[in-house]
Amino acid sequence: MDQRTPEASREQTLDPADWEAFRALGHRMVDDMVEHLATLRERPPWRTVPEATRRALDEPLPHAAQGETNVYEQFLEHVLPYSNGNRHPRHWGWVHGNGTPLAMLADMLASGMNPHLAGYDQAPAIVERQVVAWLTELMGMPSTSSGLLVEGGTMANIVGLSVARHAKAGFDVRAEGLHGGEHPRLVVYHSSETHGWLRKGMHLLGLGERSLHAVPCDAHGRMQLAALSEAIALDRREGLRPICVVATAGTVNTGAIDDLASIAELCREQDLWFHVDGAFGALAKLSSKARELVAGLELADSLAFDLHKWMYLPFGVACVLVRDARAHRETFAMNAAYIAPQARGVIAGGLPFADHGVDLTRSFRALKVWMSLKAHGVDAFARLVDQNVEQAQHLARAVRAHAELELLAPVALNVVCFRCAPAGVAENVLDALNRELLLRLQERGIAIPSSTSIGGKYALRCAITNHRSRLDDFDALVDATVALGRELAAESQAFGGMSAARPSS
Ligand SMILES: *Cc1c(COP(=O)(O)O)cnc(C)c1O
Repeated sequence: MDQRTPEASREQTLDPADWEAFRALGHRMVDDMVEHLATLRERPPWRTVPEATRRALDEPLPHAAQGETNVYEQFLEHVLPYSNGNRHPRHWGWVHGNGTPLAMLADMLASGMNPHLAGYDQAPAIVERQVVAWLTELMGMPSTSSGLLVEGGTMANIVGLSVARHAKAGFDVRAEGLHGGEHPRLVVYHSSETHGWLRKGMHLLGLGERSLHAVPCDAHGRMQLAALSEAIALDRREGLRPICVVATAGTVNTGAIDDLASIAELCREQDLWFHVDGAFGALAKLSSKARELVAGLELADSLAFDLHKWMYLPFGVACVLVRDARAHRETFAMNAAYIAPQARGVIAGGLPFADHGVDLTRSFRALKVWMSLKAHGVDAFARLVDQNVEQAQHLARAVRAHAELELLAPVALNVVCFRCAPAGVAENVLDALNRELLLRLQERGIAIPSSTSIGGKYALRCAITNHRSRLDDFDALVDATVALGRELAAESQAFGGMSAARPSS
């Protein structure tokens, strides 16, 4: 029974009617989730969603209350077990991070506190500024740079590209837009290995895909500089306006790192914006050993990187840093009367974060970064980056050492691309064999690599941004891959033509 007065009980709130019961439920949630994380290794990384769960999750709009405990139990049964599995020690697919227990709790605190992070001169904003200052220092960018935390690498990159467009268009894009006018087409250069965010960004910014100029890569997946220079010169001769070069530190296919210092120099000479997509690769900066691999990153005009990939934090948090703080602000700042800056009161300090990106209302994602960097120390993250680089080398060595495995790309950082080539299997069926092999690795709950295509060959691909993996996890992957390869070779019927003998050279 509701103990409040009849008057009060008519007033609605989403706070619990019984705070003690709610507290107990909260404790149970924390206990269950901690237990889940502590025992990850005992479960397979991934399971298909059972039909019963699909049916249970297909419900009419719930008009009436089902109750917190009831809904939580549905979560335990139908949601928790069936994710894509990236928190597991044997997940190396695409480029995902694991998340961390501490940052999970930090997200809870941030949600509980629920401050508005458009700006304001309040503690959460001071925390975000501190985090951005630390990240600026770690990346080696000047302390006068500006920065912003955003949802992911895609948004961080698009913010950088937006500033590039604003700064280099040669006219007032904010006022004029790209419609009509007398201005030439604005061209952006990138390598054939650039991640898909760039096309999305070109669409959104109205630049259009036809304003992208793809530059071919060398055998190591790095943008060819001579080809880049030629492309810029050619476009200038044709009356187009080159504005920006997008380089990548850690390509999504193979982890290749463009020659950042040389591209920076070319951009300076050519008056172009130098944007670096360092979604995961930028984090190599943390390690004194891996740092030299991404030398030149600190010369970027804008640099985007994720903290939810190679810094292992829960989704979604990424950072964009911009060398020219004024250009950054001028790209996004609004002067609306209802948020006019004041010297005193709650709005003092204005809305600096909203003035540096797309979002107005922003969550306190800085808290998990701040707590994690302080609690674990930057050096712990540096050691983990080194550990992942060493694990990639370990896996590559194991692949090279095994007669039935083939390394398909050089291992520049933390990405390993390989395939299984069992004895007696013809080249023309290896794609089909490895495609099926990957599905069996995943469906049998052994491990989660993903795939890509390297020089026209289907490749199993491990991108190692996992703080839970151990060397023996990679040994287990190698053993399972070889065993599955033999199993598939024996099932040759399923792959018409597989029995055709492979030249044994
Ligand atoms: C993951 C990735 C992105 C996109 O980042 P999200 O956080 O997924 O939005 C961009 N570039 C590269 C190289 C990536 O690996």
